[in-house]
Amino acid sequence: MAKHTIVMIPGDGIGPEVTAATRRVLEAAGLSVEWVELPAGASAIQQGCENVLPQRTLAAIEAHKVAIKGPVTTPVGGGFTSVNVQLRQKLNLYAAVRPVRSMPNIRTRYENVDLVIVRENTEGLYSGIENEVTPGVVTSLKVATESACMRIARYAFRYATRRHRRKITVLHKANIMKLTDGLFLKCARRIHEEEYPNIEYEEVIIDAGLMKIIQDPARFDVLLCENLYGDLVSDLCAGLVGGLGVVPGANIGEHAAVFEAVHGSAPDIAGRGIANPLACIMSGVMMLNHIHEETIARRIKEAYDAVLGEGKTLTRDLGGTAGTSEFADAIISRLR
Ligand code: NAD
Repeated sequence: MAKHTIVMIPGDGIGPEVTAATRRVLEAAGLSVEWVELPAGASAIQQGCENVLPQRTLAAIEAHKVAIKGPVTTPVGGGFTSVNVQLRQKLNLYAAVRPVRSMPNIRTRYENVDLVIVRENTEGLYSGIENEVTPGVVTSLKVATESACMRIARYAFRYATRRHRRKITVLHKANIMKLTDGLFLKCARRIHEEEYPNIEYEEVIIDAGLMKIIQDPARFDVLLCENLYGDLVSDLCAGLVGGLGVVPGANIGEHAAVFEAVHGSAPDIAGRGIANPLACIMSGVMMLNHIHEETIARRIKEAYDAVLGEGKTLTRDLGGTAGTSEFADAIISRLR
């Protein structure tokens, strides 16, 4: 089996705990890998780096093209741009993909949730263009470009086709933001009509759309969103299936991909060995599919589904008492 070189960014807070657990599970499942471990976030500053995203970390991802990343804390103040925003913009990781599905034995108010959020990752209100017009008056610029809107729409339709998904719903506010959200819609509509007419397509105003997701998530399939909406919708949908501990994510670009859970560094539980590593492990499974290690990916997925199905070893966020390592060990023991 080919040996992969993968950049590993432990990150901050619970990041080192969940990434260490992920690493153990991936290796136990048979992944032949050389990890290139590099810092980012508050821990990079503590290690003496000048930027929360050190140049050598960025260069390693550019060179090896694949990274798995723990969550990071961006120090408040100090003028640092968020690591995640920097990574997405500098590596042009234009598509965030977040599958949200009901998991065995995790009881929530909803059953049979199976959604995928495709979020535009590089512009919108995350462009970071803010101005003080005059003291007491500030603005934040929402940017939409035709090339980025076309690119994310095409990605979503291509993803839907490859994954045999039936429908794309664009969540928007084009009734108010006629130019920016209007362009986003126009591009999605065009890709649908010209390239993927076989995929069902709908446009839903986001406020009513959120209500509809809460009322009946099963009516949705792939949710295509601009940057800010995608951020909010991801956490909302995580709440439908048991919280942030069970939602993985991928940030995909033409030349590199960074895999990470949707959750943050959870400073409230950091260092206590109780974080749920599942979202990070699931992000690892997305990464394995990306690098064409589908067999190992399936083995790990079947193992964590089995552990959840038995319901004996669950972390606290899922109603159990298991710690991070114990949960990872349970998955390893179920690997076939
Ligand atoms: P958070 O996701 O860290 O935590 C929200 C809540 O969910 C907390 O109660 C936390 O304990 C719980 N939680 C999160 N992940 C969990 C897990 N794996 N297992 C068990 N419980 C879990 O969100 P926050 O508190 O708003 O943010 C904390 C820090 O993380 C901030 O500095 C924020 O900027 C950063 N953040 C980073 C990323 C990233 O690097 N991808 C994403 C979101 C937030």
